Amino acid sequence: MTTAKMLYLGTVLIASFTAQFCTAQAIVIHGGAGVITREGLSPEQEKAYRIKLKQAVDSGYDVLAAGGSSLDAVSASIQIMENSALFNAGKGAVYNYAGQHDLDSSIMDGSTKMAGAVAGVKIVKNPIKLARAVMEKSPHVLLAGSGAEAFAKTQDIELVPNSYFDTKRRLESLQRAKQKLKLSSWNEVDKDLSIDYKMGTVGAVAVDKNGNIAAGTSTGGRTAKRYGRVGDSPLIGAGTWADNSSCGVSATGHGEFFIRYNVAADICARVKYKGLSIQQAADEVIQKELVDVKGSGGVIVLNANGEIAYSFNTEGMYRAQRSEGKPAQIDIFGQAEKITN
Ligand code: ASP
Repeated sequence: MTTAKMLYLGTVLIASFTAQFCTAQAIVIHGGAGVITREGLSPEQEKAYRIKLKQAVDSGYDVLAAGGSSLDAVSASIQIMENSALFNAGKGAVYNYAGQHDLDSSIMDGSTKMAGAVAGVKIVKNPIKLARAVMEKSPHVLLAGSGAEAFAKTQDIELVPNSYFDTKRRLESLQRAKQKLKLSSWNEVDKDLSIDYKMGTVGAVAVDKNGNIAAGTSTGGRTAKRYGRVGDSPLIGAGTWADNSSCGVSATGHGEFFIRYNVAADICARVKYKGLSIQQAADEVIQKELVDVKGSGGVIVLNANGEIAYSFNTEGMYRAQRSEGKPAQIDIFGQAEKITN
């Protein structure tokens, strides 16, 4: 055999080995989308977000690098953001109309298509942990309110008083929102509140060394929400989706649109059935379908090869990613088309 031929055969063998046995481990996270501009964020605030996003993405990546599962990586990253007052999830959750906090979360395993979710829980420190317990320890997908909390008590889940989630910043948002509600109709105020009063939902999508994708999302929902309003974040297909054969998605934005457009599952369906890349699929849904109806928000997307995509139609989206052999990348601002309602 000639040297050239041997070299060629060697390359083919390495390429097929890499494709079959070496999945590139990767994780992508978000901390919400909205009117996030350089002018609107002080250098100190920007630094605080960058530090927390890096800590969250690194902790998820460390799980993957140690051979852990994508489910563990997603849970680790989300818990760090839930424990930070910077985000509208866990500790920094927005207030509902009654001055309390109701938390929503979901998680999905792309290898089995198993999923777990909780909606409207008030005393669970890390809702993503409870969502996972629903997936792994119950026969159900979605548990809500006091029933979900009763289930939490049967599991190894930390409970806290609702006041644990209080923050001055979110209380001021509630007061401003209630002021607006006095002056205008509910529908008008709702449009106005769609971006600025809920920013900071968190999410993560990861792929592990076995090529298994997991996705999760956690939020406090929208400021001044009432009548048991639930958004897209705990709804499998709307705010969270994972399927090894197409992609994993976590969404953030105006939940009512994400529910009606079934955003997370639709993006992966376009990958699966139209053969689009994850970037093309995400852009079709976020920059076209949603922009056409003025639905604001964004998504993080990842596939089993470890490719990562973002798409958002707001001014910014807190986001970070880390892949094998590359340093963590943290981004906040963007050039996206601005939606103002
Ligand atoms: N999607 C969340 C909700 O509507 C909020 C957000 O992501 O900003 O509850």
